[in-house]
Amino acid sequence: LTEACLSEIDGAGALNAFVHNTPDLALEQAKAADARMSADAPSLNGLPLGIKDLFCTKGVASQAASRILEGFKPQYESTVTQNLFDAGAVMLGKLNMDEFAMGSSNETSVYGDAVNPWKIDDRKLTPGGSSGGSAAAVAADLCLAATGTDTGGSIRQPAALTGITGIKPTYGRCSRWGIIAFASSLDQAGPMTKSVRDAAIMLEAMCGHDPKDSTSVDLAVPDFEAALTGDIKGKKIGIPREYRMDGMPQEIEDLWAKGREMMQDAGAELVDISLPHTKYALPTYYVIAPAEASSNLARYDGVRFGHRAKLDQGDGITEMYEKTRAEGFGDEVQRRVMVGTYVLSAGFYDAYYNRARKVRTLIKKDFEDVFAQGIDGILTPATPSAAFGLGEMADADPVQMYLNDVFTVTVNLAGLPGISVPAGLDANGLPLGLQLIGRPWEESDLLNLAYALE
Ligand code: GLN
Repeated sequence: LTEACLSEIDGAGALNAFVHNTPDLALEQAKAADARMSADAPSLNGLPLGIKDLFCTKGVASQAASRILEGFKPQYESTVTQNLFDAGAVMLGKLNMDEFAMGSSNETSVYGDAVNPWKIDDRKLTPGGSSGGSAAAVAADLCLAATGTDTGGSIRQPAALTGITGIKPTYGRCSRWGIIAFASSLDQAGPMTKSVRDAAIMLEAMCGHDPKDSTSVDLAVPDFEAALTGDIKGKKIGIPREYRMDGMPQEIEDLWAKGREMMQDAGAELVDISLPHTKYALPTYYVIAPAEASSNLARYDGVRFGHRAKLDQGDGITEMYEKTRAEGFGDEVQRRVMVGTYVLSAGFYDAYYNRARKVRTLIKKDFEDVFAQGIDGILTPATPSAAFGLGEMADADPVQMYLNDVFTVTVNLAGLPGISVPAGLDANGLPLGLQLIGRPWEESDLLNLAYALE
């Protein structure tokens, strides 16, 4: 399997999905897996995976697709990748992504765009972002599955745009230790896979309590695969009226209607619900995420990791910081650092950051209220459109790009589990995804609901 994937990767350079290949390591891990092959071998024994470049992998380049981390090879392994290796998985290499996971199209990467294996004629399409390389690699069968991370939709949006499955578990389910931080109160890792069953198996291997991450929860990891019974009779599925946005394309409306019908046919009950603060989610996210990013990215100073600018005679430490950060960070990352430092600055902290934190609490409470009414899951579209052309949105107003996250960011702000499953094709034959949102810590139920949509 590993050899077959390595040869597929060699032939798929045009997708620009894998950015650091580790064939020697992969073959070594595969041999070790062969030696372990038996009925009680670990759950992912010998399965070749791709790893998003945001995960620190020991001795293997881990750059968060940024120039500033050029040459950085961590001396430690992230908990999630260690858990995968302990379950027998093989790493084929590191996957393309938006720089520091900031973006929705994989166009902010220092490695260049990742390309969606789905296309219309010769038009090159985005695989979505920020986990664009992961999505492209899984959709093109370069690996059996991949890791992603999701701060505002970066697992679910690229999954939807490439016709695969992606789950962001409850905040705290997976350890963030060794994952290069973007916005620490929102970041979560999750699997990107070909099916809901694969997602269940891989998530079980990835998650679990980790004393090295104080936000990782000390809860037993359920047998997620065992939860896939397909029986969702009597489950109450909330349909939030605020997600019916003005100007929503007909094909997204139709997709959502099809999803509702499938849930009903499987015996679930549809309930109209209201999440009244939904309209504030995007602005809230785009205050909180940059605020946390500006703080997290302060560590890239040209001293501790990666790239340092060439200095001129007489330059002092300030010039070293300024030149290094100006060269090392791309435009979108610089924009986020500037927005973040602005909203955290003494004069504006209360007006922006503190206000956003209060609205975040209201958004979370919206969900708590509907779950208290007995709602088991919430069904929404995953994205406002199918994959768009590379270059088509990147040059526009950045806010246009941010609108891609309109259905996904609420889930991160509330810390809930959310999954995107492929649910059909648009008029051009491109994949579209539906999103299901679950109760906290009830990924088992959520996966089973998603299984009914598959
Ligand atoms: N597209 C969103 C952003 O740019 C979400 C990214 C993510 O989930 N990492 O912030």
